[in-house]
Amino acid sequence: MILVGLTGGIGSGKSTVSTLLADAGAVIIDGDAITRELQQPGEPLLQVIAERFGDDVLDESGALIRQRLADIVFNDVDALKDLNKIVHPAVGKELERRLEEQRSTRNVVILDIPLLAENPRKGLSGTIVVDVPEDIAVSRLVAQRGMREDDARARMANQASREKRLAIADQVIDNSGSLEELQRRVSVVWQWALTLPHVVDDEADSRSDV
Ligand code: ADP
Repeated sequence: MILVGLTGGIGSGKSTVSTLLADAGAVIIDGDAITRELQQPGEPLLQVIAERFGDDVLDESGALIRQRLADIVFNDVDALKDLNKIVHPAVGKELERRLEEQRSTRNVVILDIPLLAENPRKGLSGTIVVDVPEDIAVSRLVAQRGMREDDARARMANQASREKRLAIADQVIDNSGSLEELQRRVSVVWQWALTLPHVVDDEADSRSDV
């Protein structure tokens, strides 16, 4: 597989880019999506969460009430640590399982994981960063996702700076223009991704697999 990291700040257009890459033929492995999947009713992980935080975090159908869990962990540092200790290993394990499934294929696999800039990952064929000025990201989040401006800005303040993200980029997708411009830029980056070396087992000669 060709393994490409994808990151971008909230509101940068990372999800839109991910969808466009999937349309082009990429396999997407999305850390946030895995987290949501593992927290569906009936999943063992959700049971562990309910054991730690109480059945009040579940509704009658057994689904997680995200706001209730957020209210607990964002007011209590130890609770947040506990939640991370429960969720991160399970998500990490599932993510690695999906990667393993792809390893010997010829696919371009897009690894869409939060905090890639904060925790760079070894073994990527390359990294794409989606970038927009903060004000554009905020106005899109407010206009199109109905987010409150102060909420959007608070979330941005909690993530890596634009500079830190750009520092890990092999390809920067500037998304300050129209959606049509974004599509064109993604096509160019997709062509670039197809030229990247495949990830191979440590013992193998990586050059022979390009
Ligand atoms: P992220 O995943 O980085 O938080 P999204 O891909 O969800 O960002 O984009 C945020 C919002 O902005 C979405 O509603 C999306 O449809 C919209 N959007 C993304 N790119 C553009 C663009 N170039 N022009 C206008 N709206 C855009």
